[in-house]
Amino acid sequence: MNSTEWKKVSLDDPIQFIKGVGPKKALLLQKLQLTAIEDFLYFLPFRYEDRSQLKTISTLIPGEFSTFTAEVLNAGVIYMGRRKRVFEVIFQDETGTTRARWFRFNETYMLEKFKTGAKLIVSGKPTVNKRSGVEIVHPDTERVTDETTISLEGGKIVPVYHTTDGLHQKSMRSILSNVLEKYLPLVDEVLPEEIIRRHKLLTRSEAFQKAHFPPSADFIAKDLDTFKTPAQKRLIFEELFLIQTGLAYRKKHAGEIKTGMAFKTRGDLIKKFIKLLPFQLTEAQKRVLAEIMADLEKEKPMNRLIQGDVGSGKTIVALTALLTAVDNESQAALMVPTEILAEQHYLNIRPYCDALGIELALVTGTLKGKERKAIYQDIETGKTRIIVGTHSLVQKEIQFKQLGLAVVDEQHRFGVLQREAIGKKGNHPHLLIMTATPIPRSLALTIYGDMDVSFLDEFPPGRQPITTRVFYEKQQDKAYALMESELKMGRQAFVVCPLIEESEVMDLKAAVTVFESIQERFPHLAACLIHGKLKKEERQEIMSRFLRNEVQVLVATTVIEVGIDIPNATVMIIEHAERFGLAQLHQLRGRVGRGKHASHCLLAAYFPISEEGKARMKAMQNSRDGFEIAEEDLKIRGPGDFMGTRQSGLPVLKIANLIRDIKILDVARKEAFALIDRDPNLEAPENQPLKNAVHRLLGKHLPLMDII
Ligand code: ADP
Ligand code: MG
Repeated sequence: MNSTEWKKVSLDDPIQFIKGVGPKKALLLQKLQLTAIEDFLYFLPFRYEDRSQLKTISTLIPGEFSTFTAEVLNAGVIYMGRRKRVFEVIFQDETGTTRARWFRFNETYMLEKFKTGAKLIVSGKPTVNKRSGVEIVHPDTERVTDETTISLEGGKIVPVYHTTDGLHQKSMRSILSNVLEKYLPLVDEVLPEEIIRRHKLLTRSEAFQKAHFPPSADFIAKDLDTFKTPAQKRLIFEELFLIQTGLAYRKKHAGEIKTGMAFKTRGDLIKKFIKLLPFQLTEAQKRVLAEIMADLEKEKPMNRLIQGDVGSGKTIVALTALLTAVDNESQAALMVPTEILAEQHYLNIRPYCDALGIELALVTGTLKGKERKAIYQDIETGKTRIIVGTHSLVQKEIQFKQLGLAVVDEQHRFGVLQREAIGKKGNHPHLLIMTATPIPRSLALTIYGDMDVSFLDEFPPGRQPITTRVFYEKQQDKAYALMESELKMGRQAFVVCPLIEESEVMDLKAAVTVFESIQERFPHLAACLIHGKLKKEERQEIMSRFLRNEVQVLVATTVIEVGIDIPNATVMIIEHAERFGLAQLHQLRGRVGRGKHASHCLLAAYFPISEEGKARMKAMQNSRDGFEIAEEDLKIRGPGDFMGTRQSGLPVLKIANLIRDIKILDVARKEAFALIDRDPNLEAPENQPLKNAVHRLLGKHLPLMDII
């Protein structure tokens, strides 16, 4: 579909097209990411208030949101102390009187509005003030006029939107109401009729109307607030269905590509390699390998995700796959997110390659001059068979002779686009993606909806317990004492430094401070500092000294977050743990507990600590299970922020919530995949609106293979 065919829908109109929205309001709205009309449609209220049941003053209950009609008995400014001004109104109806107060107000406006005898609809939550009795602070009020029946405020279910400073709830409501009035006729249906019928869904425009302004008859407070009304459910379904349709489409069509690279698996090279391993593969490793081998034997390129918690032994699985490609006269690449991890993989893999007589190369951004040229050349001629590297691997200068398999490790650190870029380095090579981010199933279905998934759900035998403890502020001496006693027993420790901000320079400064204080306190210990700014040689030197136990304490920035494997390390101290995300803490903790000894993860936390920060540390203490932790993370941060979604390249969900809406996701996914089976190119006329909608939603984010 090319852009000239796009229907120029005016839902793209800027919000200034709505009366009453000038440049000033438009700026405020921009803060809420609201610019075009369509954004407003999707900006659903986060809560609703029931003003449909009118109360009387005598039946008001403190703490309970209520609406009543009343007359102004008296109104005016009251001074409390020298500076503080309060606007006070006494309302009365036939049952009694009550007081309302405003702390922020425009006096002229208020005096005009609250003239004695004026009749108003008042909505708010009465509270009890110790000195003055029951009162309502900052109620919403509306004058009773003939128009009241059609007003947005009185006698109705009233939406409550997130707003920003300077933008009143009332303005928001009136903007939304105007948007709906003017643009609702332009809202076309996008779902196929059959699906609407089968699931008894509201039409799209009806859903928007009712989700913003629910009719009183629909009001079941609990349902509205938990997004369970038909209007809300319809919009959630639509959002998830569109994404799943795009993913189903990709999956379907990826399967049609023939590479001609059906591999022979379990050849002599693999047999030799398995004999070299110092351990037996776990049952899970064998199972996942069998799944991979079955994929590799087909001409259709593999597109598989391995999900395995930290320490489940993904590297060996990857290496077996790489060697299978080599055994089939192909090259194979392993791409990882950090240089330090690339170096570690390279060092780990090298002995096997040496023993098997396979040329191996390391490609990172630090390669320079002649060395770089030589390495690139050997890749191009096909002399080098296995290439380990960072995202430098996808740069233009690198040409593979025949890339048969690309493995992407710690995929959550890459975006979809990088994942695809490595795939483009060959003629549709097999693709294996590995992640230690234990993505909850619901999220995995969305992010990796177009891939096959294998679960490495078993740990190598002899996994040791890790005790996780939090040390607040001044208790951190205890953490370091614990570290020292472990070191005395011959163990090693990581100290990870605070994440100051997304700036390497600042992170480094903090790391230097921690490093110096450790040197000062423990002059007899061999400590080293490692960070992203070091030269490759220095870094490799430090890592290999640490691996040989010549260095006891490794102070590091988060460069060591993923993948690093030092079995003798039993202590992980995380400085300013309150600043780290949960997934990151879990990854860091995964650096210990890998050898024969019980390990410790010590979280040094400093006040002030946010509620979320506390919840994260609690989750760390409560569980070591990556899946549980990921679920917890979703709860704490919400799906929009969950690591992986933002970087996955998928659009951030506007309405759906992957925890709350898991059931709808399942239904939407099944319907989407079934539809693509029936109409693989969405060619049927009745599917055109859907095709356009999928393109609109995903076109920017996911290359839909240029067909949709
Ligand atoms: P991750 O899944 O986090 O990448 P690694 O591949 O780094 O895990 O493996 C973690 C550790 O477990 C490594 O030291 C590795 O050598 C070891 N290991 C992997 N598989 C087995 C196995 N089947 N038996 C014993 N140890 C294993
Ligand atoms: Mg790993």
